[in-house]
Amino acid sequence: MAGKARAIILGSGTSNGVPMLGVEYPPEFLANPKNHRTRPSCLLQGPSGNVLVDCGPEMRLQLLRENITSLKAVIITHTHADHIMGMDDVRAFCKRDDPPMPVYTAKRYQEDIKRIFPYAFQDQKPGIWVPRYDMREVPEFIHEAGLEIETLWVEHGDLPVLALRVGDFAYVTDVNRIPEKVWSRLLNLKTLILDGLRYRPHPNHYNYEQAVEIATALNAEMTYFTHLSDDYDHDKVNAELPPRIQLAYDGLKIPITL
Ligand SMILES: [Zn+2]
Repeated sequence: MAGKARAIILGSGTSNGVPMLGVEYPPEFLANPKNHRTRPSCLLQGPSGNVLVDCGPEMRLQLLRENITSLKAVIITHTHADHIMGMDDVRAFCKRDDPPMPVYTAKRYQEDIKRIFPYAFQDQKPGIWVPRYDMREVPEFIHEAGLEIETLWVEHGDLPVLALRVGDFAYVTDVNRIPEKVWSRLLNLKTLILDGLRYRPHPNHYNYEQAVEIATALNAEMTYFTHLSDDYDHDKVNAELPPRIQLAYDGLKIPITL
């Protein structure tokens, strides 16, 4: 498929966001806007619209910041709170006469969404405006917004998490193991976005050391770490990382060749 597309890192932060509540930071840390990380999310911009990947608590602010006024579909990688708690705001993109918003996620995560947002699946009185979701199983390829989005399952502790590949770009959030058959689909890309939570090990995420090792082996032209904690002072850490591995930041824009 020929054509141009783009990804926007809407949020590059871990589940707490950065700065974290209840923590005091040096003014130098706070002075760098790239140390301000909202909850993890990504927007895929195709030839005919936008696909939102995850829907964290700052979704409204993220989309306002990037001037996004329409969505074709939502993909939910998994249902941890930092990935779904903005889903109520999807109602902005499914007004009364619009069809429900396509939401692609695993069956088990569909059940979570139905439990957390039951009103989105119920008939409402006239004048009541709620989001409406058209829950869809995850096919091998999602076709939305003129994009062909390959769906790949990685492991996040005991949970399956949806990783996505579009052309020469892949988005792999919340992961601590990449199964062998997925590995080959993530090799030698132009751009890879990869979970690189923090310095200390974590049972369900790659830490810095593991993420560097995985990124080096996957050999993308450029790897950006995401789902970042406050361990990382953006400019300092980027200066220490190899030039082909850097930290992502909120608002990072990545061209995709389809
Ligand atoms: Zn998670």
